[in-house]
Amino acid sequence: MCGIIGYTGKRQASPIMLSGLKRLEYRGYDSSGMAVIHDGKIDVIKSEGKIKKLEEKTDGGKKPIGTVGIGHTRWATHGVPSDVNSHPHVSRDGDFAIVHNGIIENFAALKSELMRLGYTFKSDTDSEVIAQLLCHLFKGDAVKAIRELLKKIKGSYSIGILCAKTPDRLYAVRKDNPLVIGLGKGENFIASDFAAAIEHTHDFVLLGEGEIAELSADSVRYYDADLNLIEKDSYTVDWDISRAEKSGYPHFMLKEIYEQPKAITDTIRPRIQNGNIDLDGIDFKKSYLDSLIGVDIVGCGSAYHAGIVGKHFIEKHCRLPVNCELASEYIYSDPITGSNRLTVIISQSGETADTLAALRLAKKKGSRTLAIVNVVQSAIAREADDVLYTHAGPEIAVATTKGYTTQVAALYLLGIKLAGILGTEEGKRLSELTTELSLLPEKISEQLKDEYVGSIKTLAKKYSNHHCVFFIGRGTDYAASLEGALKLKEISYVHAEAYAAGELKHGTISLIETGTLTLALVTQSALFHKMESNIQAVSSRHGTVLAVASKANSKISSDADGMICIPECDDDVSPVLTAVVLQLFAYYVAAKRDCDIDQPRNLAKSVTVE
Ligand code: GLU
Repeated sequence: MCGIIGYTGKRQASPIMLSGLKRLEYRGYDSSGMAVIHDGKIDVIKSEGKIKKLEEKTDGGKKPIGTVGIGHTRWATHGVPSDVNSHPHVSRDGDFAIVHNGIIENFAALKSELMRLGYTFKSDTDSEVIAQLLCHLFKGDAVKAIRELLKKIKGSYSIGILCAKTPDRLYAVRKDNPLVIGLGKGENFIASDFAAAIEHTHDFVLLGEGEIAELSADSVRYYDADLNLIEKDSYTVDWDISRAEKSGYPHFMLKEIYEQPKAITDTIRPRIQNGNIDLDGIDFKKSYLDSLIGVDIVGCGSAYHAGIVGKHFIEKHCRLPVNCELASEYIYSDPITGSNRLTVIISQSGETADTLAALRLAKKKGSRTLAIVNVVQSAIAREADDVLYTHAGPEIAVATTKGYTTQVAALYLLGIKLAGILGTEEGKRLSELTTELSLLPEKISEQLKDEYVGSIKTLAKKYSNHHCVFFIGRGTDYAASLEGALKLKEISYVHAEAYAAGELKHGTISLIETGTLTLALVTQSALFHKMESNIQAVSSRHGTVLAVASKANSKISSDADGMICIPECDDDVSPVLTAVVLQLFAYYVAAKRDCDIDQPRNLAKSVTVE
């Protein structure tokens, strides 16, 4: 996690870095700081807390003065959020300043070694060891010192470096964590994410693992691990800056909820031609699919929840056993996989550390890997055998909305495609599903009309003081419940749990008492009567039930205290529409509770540590 920005050029670096850090704040926001070279010396300003505090300390970017600098917004892994633990960290001679994203796993050993040599440390971070080590390794050539540093440190990192002895340049390296170089005119940038520099340039270079970049205002040099100069291709990012702005919405989360019709259209429309699905040319031969004994879907958090929706869909229509696993569990479970299993890896950012490790493990074991990611050219996208991009656009709010629903849409595309090749579903049914999928954006637009949103807002306000909420559903509704509960707890800090509705009676029902709120998802007609009984079991214990139902199941309203009906749809694609309801419900509960919706406590968006 954490965001890095760096600048070298002719302009004052601090305001450029401040605005870049604001665009990176979603990556971490417990503290921030910047270092700038001025008159051959490095000046540092840093602060615990959000970028706003740094903005105050730097007088809106008027100081520190200088045209070469590095900045950082932190998500602490080692050492509490505090001024002293904030980055940049400076070497004892003041000649090196560094910002670091990731974890230096062998920092303790390196630190003891340096302390034996007389170095003292100011912070509790693992990162400070980088600055002190550079000081120790520097023999007059910064690039050589960085190469020696890379030989010594272990872990995951992207690092931005200033050296007072080369006051016109900055340096960058990365391993397992993201870092791009932005190419401007008479100025160049480093950034964790191109969003941080997109207001200045649209041309970027992706720094490779183990490569070193040396940037000055007019040139960028790239070195491989042996310090040979290498050529790198640039690519153009055609994002409009407004896509990374709130555009009048009070929060990015609400804006992103409203962007779902477009995000899903962009994800599915280019892939449906004359009713047929083309997954960007990904070639699944029938003989290959026939040889599969199963599919593994791997992800973390909401991506994992999208995977569970996908599992239901693929199993139902492709008649293939699907195992959905949390990436952090998968990687340490010695998974039984190989060429007879397809591994689907899901990550919005494409850089989630646990998921990346899962991808590498599955590949090593011989499984074909297909990545579903949002960020083009991200590590997971580059390393997987095949990639199916979700075209959700930038997602800034930490709690995912359009990232999740586009992942579900991508899994539907995959399921329909595989069922077509395998011949496990009739053509007519596949056409129906394809049509249902293409109608989703329109149906979400219906849900985003004022009246519909207003009714959810009223219910959310009414129930916003509850401390414990259950979400129940069966089958694909249970999968959707998992995401609904996560959304609520992430942004409103209300304790929420999802249960398979039939499971409630096996223990958890003991927690239902007068007024306990349960959101019951009732979109699966085949399971209507079972859900009806489950809802009655809650009501009989004086629990309050809010139903989220399909039109066909709206008669459930007589058993519930309130109901929100989703637009009419095929039961198999209802999770996308229930997700919109549950996102809005969570959003308005959090708003009523005055929570920091876009940046909930303790979280960060791209989790690049295991
Ligand atoms: N491990 C470093 C720290 O705790 C960097 C964390 C980050 O990536 O923000 O300071």
